[in-house]
Amino acid sequence: MTDLPIDVPTHDREDAGPLPVLAIVGRPNVGKSTLVNRIIGRREAVVEDTPGVTRDRVSYDANWAGREFTVVDTGGWDPDAVGMAALVAAQAEVAINAADAVLFVVDAVVGITDADEAVVRVLRKSGKPVVLAANKVDDQRIESEAMNLWSLGIGEPFAVSAMHGRGTGDMLDAVLAALPEAPAERDGEAGGPRRVAIVGKPNVGKSSLLNKVAKEDRVVVSDVAGTTVDPVDELITLGGQEWRFIDTAGIRRKVKNAQGHEYYASLRTNAAIERAEVVVVVIDSSESITEQDLRIMNAVEEAGKALVIAYNKWDLMDEERRYYLEREIDRDLVQFRWAPRVNISALTGWHMEKLVPAIEAALDGWQTRVPTGQLNAFLGRLVAAHPHPVRSGKQPKILFGTQATTMPPTFAIFTSGQIEASYQRFIERRLREDFGFVGSPVHVQIRARQ
Ligand code: GDP
Ligand code: GDP
Repeated sequence: MTDLPIDVPTHDREDAGPLPVLAIVGRPNVGKSTLVNRIIGRREAVVEDTPGVTRDRVSYDANWAGREFTVVDTGGWDPDAVGMAALVAAQAEVAINAADAVLFVVDAVVGITDADEAVVRVLRKSGKPVVLAANKVDDQRIESEAMNLWSLGIGEPFAVSAMHGRGTGDMLDAVLAALPEAPAERDGEAGGPRRVAIVGKPNVGKSSLLNKVAKEDRVVVSDVAGTTVDPVDELITLGGQEWRFIDTAGIRRKVKNAQGHEYYASLRTNAAIERAEVVVVVIDSSESITEQDLRIMNAVEEAGKALVIAYNKWDLMDEERRYYLEREIDRDLVQFRWAPRVNISALTGWHMEKLVPAIEAALDGWQTRVPTGQLNAFLGRLVAAHPHPVRSGKQPKILFGTQATTMPPTFAIFTSGQIEASYQRFIERRLREDFGFVGSPVHVQIRARQ
């Protein structure tokens, strides 16, 4: 568990917001990198390197006609790999999911290949806006080759020569038209105040905590009555920022000894976790950690939400209890070592000011995005230092990785052959060591290609 340093950096959300993202997809050698160079107007920006895990950088900021956007170049895998078409499609899928629009590059001279068709299927499924670049149309004579690409069924092919710059202006105009003015809200990020849930088993001090943070400036914002659950959220200003506390009615209104109470309480807890972005799990530090505490933390991890653990009733702490508590934490809570921990007393108000920095740190970790270039550099180092063990003469290879989503950080790692579970856990551990992700579950998905 991470005891937060006294000074957690203040949480600065970018005012400008992220730039819209254009993914450049296509099979190897169609001229993607050359086109990226052309778009960003810097010849030296994209480095040639050996196929495999690393490509120095894959994301660049570009500007056309006064509008800025981010270009994501995909690639970095072996063009001779077996099952190349599937690989191209798989990588394209990840890039497309993360993008606002797609520039699909086809080699007009070579014409349509299986790999191109595999990408088209992914593009169709995604529903993202697509601009089709028919590349290597270096002069008028091969313009007609570009027209053959109408048969892909994804709209007008823009005949371009990445090498000479021919036709790229019209293509970029089409790209701007396809990109949203402001980037779409990705990964389900909703605007407005951040959503916090306070959960925990009965009598740990949830309502005391809520009353302490809410003081008098609370606003009840929604009341949907009529069912066993009647969620009521409250807007509460803390640390100069407004927060939406989820289903506070469930905390304030206690239904003791009602039939099925426990069942409804756990339903309600799970519903609150689902709606929250960050969850504060309150534990009674004066008593032993129970199964029920662990079940709740597991639910937060499974739901992929940011987690803060609040050890309440710290005013009751003495040397002996503290000794046992630390042992319980080491034994039962190792899997939540990444969660910020705050020791508080809702009764006296002691250390309550530590709650907001912990929540902000967890949200930061939850939203962390590792650029693809950095991720692949990391994977390259990791594989070089600790290669996957050879089993029966075979050694699965890590081809590349990309962060598919944030909230929580979710990584797709593409491999040739099956990665062992222990090696996957090793990757997860190293990811945390290198990139942090304080307060957030981290998901790693291995996509093995044969
Ligand atoms: P990528 O693997 O898709 O990134 O492709 P590259 O950008 O590395 O280009 C592959 C090869 O095609 C290189 O030899 C480029 O010089 C060449 N190439 C790229 N664009 C053009 C073009 O517009 N015309 C011609 N004739 N060759 C090109
Ligand atoms: P909830 O069921 O989780 O909402 O818990 P409550 O807030 O109702 O608290 C349960 C009991 O614990 C009440 O008697 C509170 O006064 C007491 N309590 C809550 N927080 C603290 C604390 O920090 N220290 C001590 N000593 N008692 C607390």
